[in-house]
Amino acid sequence: MSGGATGARPDGGMQGVAILGSTGSIGTTALRVLDRQRARFRVVALTAHENAALLAEQEDAWAPAYVGLVAGGGARPGWDRGAGALVRAATRDDVDVVINAIVGAAGLDATLAALESGKRVALANKETLVVAGELAAAAAARGGGEIVPVDSEHSAILQCMGDHDPSEVQRLIITASGGPFRTWDAARLATATRADALNHPTWSMGRKISIDSATLANKALEVIEAHFLFGLPYDRIEVVVHPQSVVHSMVEFVDGSVVAQLGVPSMELPVLYALTHPERVADSGVPRFDPVQASPLTFEPVRHDAFPALGHGIAAGRAGGAAPAVFNAANEQAVALFLEGRMTFGDIATRIGEALDAHGAMPGHDRASLLAADAAARAFVRERA
Ligand code: NDP
Repeated sequence: MSGGATGARPDGGMQGVAILGSTGSIGTTALRVLDRQRARFRVVALTAHENAALLAEQEDAWAPAYVGLVAGGGARPGWDRGAGALVRAATRDDVDVVINAIVGAAGLDATLAALESGKRVALANKETLVVAGELAAAAAARGGGEIVPVDSEHSAILQCMGDHDPSEVQRLIITASGGPFRTWDAARLATATRADALNHPTWSMGRKISIDSATLANKALEVIEAHFLFGLPYDRIEVVVHPQSVVHSMVEFVDGSVVAQLGVPSMELPVLYALTHPERVADSGVPRFDPVQASPLTFEPVRHDAFPALGHGIAAGRAGGAAPAVFNAANEQAVALFLEGRMTFGDIATRIGEALDAHGAMPGHDRASLLAADAAARAFVRERA
C-alpha cells in the first residue's frame, strides 16, 4: 500500500526512525536490528505505554531526540506524556520511518498520521489495517506515505510479488504454524489454560499475539491485512498450516507458478526488510538457512471446527464496513479477559461471534463510526465476562 514514498531521505543521508512500542517484543527486536545498521539509520524517537524503566535504559543506549511515555509513572523530565505522544512521535520532521510496534487498535491514529505526513510505516501493528484499511489507504494517497509490512507472512508475500501486478496473482497462500493447540482435540481444547495458550511452539512474542496465534484469530487479522495490503479479494487468500514456520507464505501466479519465501523463524529479517525495502543489506543477524536441517517441511489444512475465530474474522473481512473493527475489538477485549482469568479459552471465539452478530452491521465509513463500533464490541464482550 503506497502513496509513492521511497523511505529514502532526499539528501541521501541517514534515515530517522521512530519506534512506537519500543519496549515490546517487536520494539526490542527492532532495536537489535538497528544496532547493526547504525550507518544507515538513527533512532530519533522512542515510545512505550508504561514500562518507564526499560524506556529509560533505551534512552541511555540510543540518546533519541524524543521519548514518549503514554501512561504510568516513572517518566524522566523532558519526556512527552499521554496518548497523543504516539502521533507526535510519528509525525516529527526528523522521522523518515515509523516502526509501529504497538499492540491493538491503540496504534491506529499514529499510523494514519504518519501516512498523512508522508512517512514510511513499517507496520507490525496489523490491527490498524484490520480496523481501518480503507482509511489507511486514503491517508497514504493524500500524504504520500507508504506501508511496508513487518508481519513475516506479509513480508514474504511482498518479497514473492516482486514487481508483479495483482492481476497476475491467482492466490496468496498464508502459512500458519497452527499454534500450541494444533493437534489438540475439542475435549482437550476446552481445558486449555493461559500458560498452555502462551506457550507458542515456534515464535516468542508478546502476550496478545501469542493468544491470537493459539485461537488462530491472528491468521484472520493477517488475511484482512493481506486483503488491504495487496488488493486481492478474500476468495483469493488462503491459509494453510505449516508447523515448522520456515515457509513464511507463498504467492501463486495465474500461470500456476508458486513463489515462496523461506527462512529460519526470526522477526529480525522482516523488521530489517521493512526498513530497507526494496533494497537488501548485509548483516541482518539472521542465521543462514540450511534446507537439510529445516527438513521435513509439512503442510496441513486448517481445522476450522476447532478454531472458529479464524472463520469469524474472514467473514468479518468479507462483510466489510465496521465488521472487521468489531471482530478486532471483540477479540482484543476477550483476550484481555482471558489473560485476567475471567474467560475460558473457548469463550474467546464464542464472544467474537456473538459480538459480530450484535454489532457487525454497524456503519464503518469513517474514523468516528469505526471507533463507535470498536467501543460497542468491547462493551458487549465485557458485559458477558
Ligand atoms: P508487546 O506486547 O510485546 O509490545 C507492545 C508494545 O506497545 C510495548 O512497547 C507496549 O508498551 C506498547 N503499548 C501497548 N499498549 C499500548 C498503548 N495502548 N499505547 C501505547 N503503547 C502501547 O507486543 P508485540 O511486540 O508482540 O506486538 C506488537 C504488534 O506487532 C502487534 O500488533 C502484533 O500483532 C504484531 N506482531 C508481533 C510479532 C511478534 O513476534 N511479537 C510478529 C508479527 C506481528 P509497554 O511495554 O510499556 O507496555
